Amino acid sequence: MIDDDYRDYDRADAHVRRFYRLNHERQTLDFARERRRHYAALNTARMGIWEACETLDTLVDDSDPDTGLSQIEHCLQTAEGIRRDGHPDWFVLTGLVHDLGKILCAFGEPQWAVTGDTFVLGCAFPDAIVYPEYFAANPDAADARYNTPVGIYEPGCGLDNVTLSWGHDEYMYLVARDYLPEPALAMIRYHSFYPGHSTDAYRELLGPGDEERLQWVRRFNRYDLYTKHDSPPDIDALRPFYQDLIGSYFPAEIAW
Ligand code: FE
Ligand code: FE
Repeated sequence: MIDDDYRDYDRADAHVRRFYRLNHERQTLDFARERRRHYAALNTARMGIWEACETLDTLVDDSDPDTGLSQIEHCLQTAEGIRRDGHPDWFVLTGLVHDLGKILCAFGEPQWAVTGDTFVLGCAFPDAIVYPEYFAANPDAADARYNTPVGIYEPGCGLDNVTLSWGHDEYMYLVARDYLPEPALAMIRYHSFYPGHSTDAYRELLGPGDEERLQWVRRFNRYDLYTKHDSPPDIDALRPFYQDLIGSYFPAEIAW
């Protein structure tokens, strides 16, 4: 597979289309704010990072046209790609944990509220988002307050001050924010924000420091995408290394 063949949504399976139809219809500003408020309390579960990896092992991401690998395999492949290139240990660890927010599925959340590309709520939906036609059925699209390029926001307000569609990025950011350095948190929080990190959409909302944050996200993104067809990782052989690495940044058990 060559690089251009990744993220090909025109040839994607019916289940990817169905996923985005539901996602674009149902992710409203009110929904995202309510879910964020609910999960920000971090009182859903207590477990360690490796345990979360194992919990994800049976989940396959419906929104991803590129892989049928299990989530733990994807997490380890991403981390191993980063390690192979000699990046710092927190960057390797970010590869391992970036998708652990998908544990929301194990908490009973539907896929459309967990995975897929994210976008800003409270302003117009730009065509740079995959399958923009599905937003016609989103109630926010008919709300005049949310229909301009900046909508409810001030120009230049900064990414940390906008509400993105709710899912595993924002949730894992909330879980990890006391433990990892700033660039790691940007990678986790914005890795699915394709219209923001890979197109010119939302330029008017970016604030101080955002361009640098998005640079980190782009640096991370190549590993998230292009390690998907490497050979499956040997989970048992890698476990001791990653358990040590986890232990140098996270306590044995954290709040989810
Ligand atoms: Fe992800
Ligand atoms: Fe990923």
